[in-house]
Amino acid sequence: MIRKYKLLFLFFILLLLITGFFTFYLNIINKDENSKEHPKADQSLSNNVISENITSGNSITDETLSISANTDDVFEASSNTVSKITYPYTDNQRFYYQEHFYIEPLNEATIKRIQGLSYKDDCTVPFKELRYLSLYYVTNDQKVKTGELICNQAIAEDLIEIFYELYQNNYPIEQISLIDKYQADDDLSCIANNTSCFNFRKIANSDTLSNHAFGLAVDINPLYNPYVSTSNGVMTASLSESLPYIDRAIDFPYKIEKDDLCYQLFLEHGFTWGGDWKNSKDYQHFEKKVRN
Ligand SMILES: [Zn+2]
Repeated sequence: MIRKYKLLFLFFILLLLITGFFTFYLNIINKDENSKEHPKADQSLSNNVISENITSGNSITDETLSISANTDDVFEASSNTVSKITYPYTDNQRFYYQEHFYIEPLNEATIKRIQGLSYKDDCTVPFKELRYLSLYYVTNDQKVKTGELICNQAIAEDLIEIFYELYQNNYPIEQISLIDKYQADDDLSCIANNTSCFNFRKIANSDTLSNHAFGLAVDINPLYNPYVSTSNGVMTASLSESLPYIDRAIDFPYKIEKDDLCYQLFLEHGFTWGGDWKNSKDYQHFEKKVRN
């Protein structure tokens, strides 16, 4: 009789152990699945996103993670599950369109990064009219990286939607950094094939403010999509580095073409394309008229 109880007791202990083991095992599986929820995001972290994304004022360093509040927040926020939020959003808070894609007003850290560079001392656009965007993009060799843009609040929602679609469809973009990384020098940013938006500057060789000055124009993959003018029947690019790409019949990476996804998305959002201009062509340039 005692032996029978002993066996029953052992059987009970065994049952407890098996249940415990399975609970533990299931927990591990769940954790594993959570970490695989965003394979693109995970991939990005192993692809030098951190060093790509972090710039601070004049100096561009890899170890400035703590300086950029925005960058810190990107990685902090990436662990949260964020559902799509409906418009309109409150202007004074961060707005997540999708995970890794957000809009926020310029915070102090961002203002410090752009003051005296893209935000010149004589800038007439108030800070409160500008927005900071953090987003993901995919390069031609399928690397996912974190990008930053500053634009006018009037097109912030357009841009977050457009860049989300471009990312979802693996539309290749080589780099999206604030132009301040290149001391707000448009030529240097173009040569680096950097996609950017806000820069308080005049149109080249003129006294008129560019639409970039208001954060209402975006240049996409500018090295491969140059500003091309024709003089005496001879086409020329504004930068010699872009000369190989003035012939739009040739195939090369990062080329924007009429009716491609980039073109379609910008036009759907009410932008015009510099490649459609009659005389000179600015193949990198999309702008939206929201001012009179
Ligand atoms: Zn432009």
